[in-house]
Amino acid sequence: MCFRAKPKCWNCDGEHMLLECKLPRNQGKISENKKIFMASSNQQQRSKPT
Ligand SMILES: [Zn+2]
Repeated sequence: MCFRAKPKCWNCDGEHMLLECKLPRNQGKISENKKIFMASSNQQQRSKPT
């Protein structure tokens, strides 16, 4: 898996970053998406040493 060109909002799944989201924050969804993001970025760091 490689990086997508467009960011994905952790709050509403829109094509923008969480910081740019205009919708009310869904904290449960945000932390769940954050967990998934952290897990996948950890795997990328492991398989691709600098
Ligand atoms: Zn959003």
